Amino acid sequence: MLSATVLFALVTVSVASEGAKWKYGETDSHGYGPPDWGKVSKFCDYTAQSPINIETPVKKDASLKGLRFAIENRNRRVSGAIKNNGHAPTLTIDKLKGKARLTGGPLGYSVFMLQQFHFHFGCDYDAGSEHLVNGKPYPGELHLVTYNTKYADFDTAASQSDGLAVIGVFFEEKKKREKGKGRKHYYALLKLYYALRRIRDFGAEASVRYIALLDLVPELKDLSSFFSYKGSLTTPPCYQSVRWIVLKEPIQFPGPLFGAMRRLKNGEGGLMCGNFRPPQKLNGRVVSEFDG
Ligand SMILES: [Zn+2]
Repeated sequence: MLSATVLFALVTVSVASEGAKWKYGETDSHGYGPPDWGKVSKFCDYTAQSPINIETPVKKDASLKGLRFAIENRNRRVSGAIKNNGHAPTLTIDKLKGKARLTGGPLGYSVFMLQQFHFHFGCDYDAGSEHLVNGKPYPGELHLVTYNTKYADFDTAASQSDGLAVIGVFFEEKKKREKGKGRKHYYALLKLYYALRRIRDFGAEASVRYIALLDLVPELKDLSSFFSYKGSLTTPPCYQSVRWIVLKEPIQFPGPLFGAMRRLKNGEGGLMCGNFRPPQKLNGRVVSEFDG
């Protein structure tokens, strides 16, 4: 039989973890909003947090040259499970079906492996991205999260100062008359669109087979124009372990893809859209850029 002390301890633990929920927007009965995330994880109040507002011009740094992203299987595609975790549609890579690696440039000889990618987006086109450029947000931002393979796995790397590198890619609404990037780009967008439609409800998960990431984000084939700085995860636990690589050039997403994102539900009975953290103080950090 459990003693009263043990029972009390169990109750205390469950209340504490219940109280540590985080959310976007205002702090309310569902959890803590971004200004209060320090109550969820102390690191969220530290001084090298992300995202940031990037004020141009920034320092040019030729040593950032040589960053390469590659998918190392025959069809150059990745597969995995996309999940609605209430915060962002997140596709976790099944590494048995194809690995993607990032190396060179600011990462030097270290090899970083793609763990997952996810999307931040607004409820309309006025906001949505996490990073801002000269105070301006984009309607959304894709994050490709990679970890340093000198660590055993993503979870081990996530809290290490050289543990993670995240590629941020802004996306905006495709202008109707603009020429597309061809059929391959369209197919990749369509695959993402159908995947998002299958995970509308909180907790829903769907498998995605062979998504052509290099067609979805053609800039990944040639990482020659980006900002870079040292920051953090943009969600609790806010570990300051991220080398950020923010591509300068946005990609174009068609309206229906934004529509599919904005219909996703969060874990509080509302919509997921608006899932971005406000910009954090630079606190003397240096942002540099590569333009090759
Ligand atoms: Zn993110």
